[in-house]
Amino acid sequence: MSAPTIDHRGPEFARLARAVLDGLKPVFGTAGPVVVYPSSGTGAWEAALVNTLSPGDRVLSFDTGHFATLWQAMARGLGLDVDFVPGDWRHGVDPATVAERLAADTHHRIKAVCVVHNETSTGVTSRVAEVRAALDSADHPALLLVDTISSLGSIDYRHDEWGVDVTVAGSQKGLMLPPGLGFNAVSKKALAVSRTAQLPKSYWDWQPIIAANANGFFPYTPATNLLYGLQAALQMLEDEGLKNVFARHARHAAATRAAVHAWGMEVLCADEREYSGSLTAVVVPEQYDADAVRAVVLERFDMSLGAGLGKLAGRVFRIGHLGHFNDLTLAGTLSGVQMGLRLTGVPIDARGVEAALERLERE
Ligand SMILES: *Cc1c(COP(=O)(O)O)cnc(C)c1O
Repeated sequence: MSAPTIDHRGPEFARLARAVLDGLKPVFGTAGPVVVYPSSGTGAWEAALVNTLSPGDRVLSFDTGHFATLWQAMARGLGLDVDFVPGDWRHGVDPATVAERLAADTHHRIKAVCVVHNETSTGVTSRVAEVRAALDSADHPALLLVDTISSLGSIDYRHDEWGVDVTVAGSQKGLMLPPGLGFNAVSKKALAVSRTAQLPKSYWDWQPIIAANANGFFPYTPATNLLYGLQAALQMLEDEGLKNVFARHARHAAATRAAVHAWGMEVLCADEREYSGSLTAVVVPEQYDADAVRAVVLERFDMSLGAGLGKLAGRVFRIGHLGHFNDLTLAGTLSGVQMGLRLTGVPIDARGVEAALERLERE
């Protein structure tokens, strides 16, 4: 990424762009186009909405956590009519609720269903294939929009096979890059809808980008140096094999939960079918402050734990185990958390790290 920036209208750039645009497809599990923006994940959220929807359109979304809350607030801000189904932030999207809501929508007023695949604020992974089956069982034409910002390249995901219409992603989580790239994988149906969707769009408009991409170019200046990094990241995922990448994350997540349970603490995710491979949110006992644990771990061991977001502030800390991560990184991470808990006076059984190591030795 620190290589010189090349001319983004020249032949060398076109080779790079074609390589990354093709290389992204297997990671999303799609044969269709993946649009790349110089943006954060939030930009890619907006792109998914403005390309597919019109003012006043009804959108169904679910209060699974902080990121779902932000995405639906954006949809409201854009003039959409959002039906935000309440949730307890310990469960993913309930496919039965999706089926119910859609079956009740006999006039097909709902134009899109928005799902956050992996809720980074809670460590809960929604079952997207089951959500798709719910749309199908209701025989409802709504588009399915899925945020995979913290799951893509870490947790099994299949855009085409699961009938997702727009998959939203970003560069800085499972793709192991700095922030600055946003992605939309787009189905044929979504692309067709985007030709008549009426929300104002310009910078985010898929059509001119997809047209320019055919020749390896972009309509405006791309984040050239991040694309070099993306090419390397895609190569790393391909070398390891996506199946192995997903298995590695699931194994590290299981070892992390073994430590949490051995400490005598609670994992926030309440349904074992929805445990996240990317991160684990740990609930601290009532009378303790999760942010005090985070502060000690940062100061003593120079390690950042994720903060509790929104209504979970001070109640949980989050252990990330996604991306470029191995057994020893995990062992170091869990050791830091265990020492931090003890230094903060949180009563734990100090055999947590040992339980995680045993789990790693076993398989
Ligand atoms: C990080 C994250 C976002 C926000 O992405 P930004 O790059 O900060 O705009 C949205 N959704 C999920 C699930 C995330 O993890």
